Amino acid sequence: MQFTDLKTQYAALRDDIQARIQRVLDHGQYIMGPEVQELEAQLAAFTGTRHCITVASGTEALLIALMALDLKPGDEVITTPFTFAATAEMILLAGARPVFVDIEADTCNIDARLIESRVTPRTRAIMPVSLYGQVADMQAINAIAARHGLAVIEDAAQSFGALYQGRRSCALSTFGATSFFPSKPLGCYGDGGALFTDDDRLATAAREIRVHGQSGRYLHTRLGVGGRMDTLQCAVVLGKLPRFGWELQRRHHLGERYRRLLQDTAVDVLTVRPDRDCVWAQFTIFVDQRSAIQDALQAQGIPTAVHYPRPLHHQPAYGALCSPESCPESVKAAARVLSLPMSADLAEGDQERVVAAIRSIAGVRPRDSVA
Ligand SMILES: *Cc1c(COP(=O)(O)O)cnc(C)c1O
Repeated sequence: MQFTDLKTQYAALRDDIQARIQRVLDHGQYIMGPEVQELEAQLAAFTGTRHCITVASGTEALLIALMALDLKPGDEVITTPFTFAATAEMILLAGARPVFVDIEADTCNIDARLIESRVTPRTRAIMPVSLYGQVADMQAINAIAARHGLAVIEDAAQSFGALYQGRRSCALSTFGATSFFPSKPLGCYGDGGALFTDDDRLATAAREIRVHGQSGRYLHTRLGVGGRMDTLQCAVVLGKLPRFGWELQRRHHLGERYRRLLQDTAVDVLTVRPDRDCVWAQFTIFVDQRSAIQDALQAQGIPTAVHYPRPLHHQPAYGALCSPESCPESVKAAARVLSLPMSADLAEGDQERVVAAIRSIAGVRPRDSVA
């Protein structure tokens, strides 16, 4: 059993993807070829945003969004410590300071109720992460941002395709930033990412920053990066898009099925709020004695992963940003989360095997505590 099954997806799409790749090899425009614009138009339409700017990775998407905001040294960006390092890393690289706010215990997303008390005159932006594929509480976050004149960048690396109050992840704030890392809900065959915005001025800034700050050929009007997404990788995503709607349905079906099958076991599942869905970039549960459970699952050929074993404020590179005692829910989650095999092509038989193994290892829930 694979943790993320990309082989079945490739088998289903082989002819389309190969034809798409062959077309790029034939026209030879490897950088900024026609597939780049074609993908940007399709993704803008899918998300319902005015602008899509493809970039070299999800990490680059975060950096370019922050650079487009013209942050000054000492500026602060509020974010969560319970995320992949890139989120806080890019805030620091952009010259600002991450301010960590704790998460909600049941969704693992930033706790919007804790944000406003951390806003200072130096705060410029809020960067929530839509972790595991469920959008953070964007309505509350946008309201705080509006009251204080802040930008909001959604780190949507794990949530592409997710719905929040009927609208798509990436279309909910100043910028949405996603990743096409192969194992993300919509992946390419290497590195890739995209930025989304409705703001014409910020879209122009992001497009320029992507190509070394050029507003014209060899006219560098601002500081930028080499942040383009390859034509070949755009072609791969274009080859996958026709199946993506079906894949989202499968993800929802398999996510609900995991939750139902796990109901009587002694593990906790993630809460999905009623006004949104989850695309399950990771199907993550909460367990006690995690490493024993992981080992026992591995012995039965079931791969698992931990997203993430340490919150960023407990990492050597970021620990100086705040006290290790802060953000206690992030610390607790980091000790208990466990991600199970998940992808649109996960076979239901394999899913049942995972649940049966968990039931035999972790046991069943005492009757009186069944919700
Ligand atoms: C994957 C991921 C990123 C980085 O995306 P890359 O394409 O790998 O650079 C950033 N933030 C989160 C939350 C992620 O899961």
